[in-house]
Amino acid sequence: MEKQQKSGHLVLVMAPFQGHLTPMLQLATILHSKGFSITIVHPELKSLNPSNHPEFTFVSIPDKIKESQLSDEDLADKLKESLVSTVDVAGSLQSLNKNCTAPLQKCLENILHSHHHIVAVIYDTLMFCAQTIVNDLGLPGITLRTSTATTLLLFPELPQLGEKELMSGIESPELQALQLQRLRALIVQNPTQMMMEVRAAFTNAMKFSSAIIVNSMEFLELEALSKVRQYFPTPIFIVGPLHKLAPTICGSLLTEDDKCISWLNKQAPKSVIYVSFGSIANIDKQELIETAWGLSNSKQPFLWVVRPGMVCGSEWIESLPNGFEESVGERGCIVKWAPQKEVLAHAAVGGFWSHCGWNSTIESICEGVPMLCRPFFGDQLLNTSYICNVWKIGLELQNLERGNIERTIKRLMVDMEGKDIRKRAMDLKKKAALCLMEDGSTSCYFNGLIKQITVSET
Ligand code: UDP
Repeated sequence: MEKQQKSGHLVLVMAPFQGHLTPMLQLATILHSKGFSITIVHPELKSLNPSNHPEFTFVSIPDKIKESQLSDEDLADKLKESLVSTVDVAGSLQSLNKNCTAPLQKCLENILHSHHHIVAVIYDTLMFCAQTIVNDLGLPGITLRTSTATTLLLFPELPQLGEKELMSGIESPELQALQLQRLRALIVQNPTQMMMEVRAAFTNAMKFSSAIIVNSMEFLELEALSKVRQYFPTPIFIVGPLHKLAPTICGSLLTEDDKCISWLNKQAPKSVIYVSFGSIANIDKQELIETAWGLSNSKQPFLWVVRPGMVCGSEWIESLPNGFEESVGERGCIVKWAPQKEVLAHAAVGGFWSHCGWNSTIESICEGVPMLCRPFFGDQLLNTSYICNVWKIGLELQNLERGNIERTIKRLMVDMEGKDIRKRAMDLKKKAALCLMEDGSTSCYFNGLIKQITVSET
């Protein structure tokens, strides 16, 4: 079937990671509704089912990386070892981009040689090889960032953004509270050659891209944004929260277990703490045990996502301590993968103990759920700083010992101390809804983005 629509044809290049793939599918859905026809180019993923999206053309390119490697223990361990930016993650990204370059180039040439004219190529920032290819083909390249715009300030490869520039204007209380200097120091420590190469490739791609799309909301990072704009002349479009604009999209690579929704239906309003560390982070057996007793002793009902293989050296939850199940009974529900957006929107959920991946953070904000932060690596540290120090809608769990876990859950969910945090989380939810109104910032940015795509076409 011919899928050309009136606004022109867009090619979207997806990165094969859960937290990247869903926002790209959401963006595709929104742009399709604005009249664009869409081809989605993706590294091979057997769990991505094109028949769920007959409105798009899907093209799979070989990446020579097994799907299991993208969510397995190995990758998570590598990420964890290095905390912020790692040799191995850098290595994985380098291989991914190297392996995808020739097939992606061929694929774009095929589209160009056939009937389709391409108005722009939108690629996930992790697929930075796309920018070099579109430069050669003379096509506009636009990059999608699935994290905050503020992360751009942490790139040490930006020659114009040295320590002095980073600190200028830091008298702003918001930027001070963010502790950018501390976060940047973590990122630059002990870089390897490979890391530097990958970051340089990232930065270079961004330099040549004709726009940067960010799945965030302007009001969340207004101060940092004005600083980012001083150093990036490229237009930046803050078009989130994408999941609210395309709510029917489910891009889960794992099967969602719906039984937790019937369990949530039986719980009191705002009583449940939802615990999930996203699709990559791993914990060790000791952390599993402390988490289990912390949850049990808190006496709050809990819904806990433990992905198979998430606990190092275990298949699933066989390392849970003796006596734990008896002590919690019906008060706890453990699943392998949850329908997270539905869970966060459920009236029974009153707190989210999270690794603070950006998608989880923005999903929690949109439902007014306060957070307990346990960041592992990368931008999760920056997101935690925003959540606890700037927006003040959460508490950081610094000590993962059962007594501290129990106390911190109570502080967040029930104690008077958490009352202001809970209120601020609800206030942020209202502000998020305003972004999506017709004259809200997200709608304005979307109009600007579409104008830019169609203008560069004429
Ligand atoms: N997610 C989900 N079910 C789960 C856990 C996570 O659907 O049980 C989704 C969640 O809604 C989010 C994504 O997986 O959209 C995780 O992305 P995030 O950026 O938070 O973390 P990452 O997995 O990239 O570390």
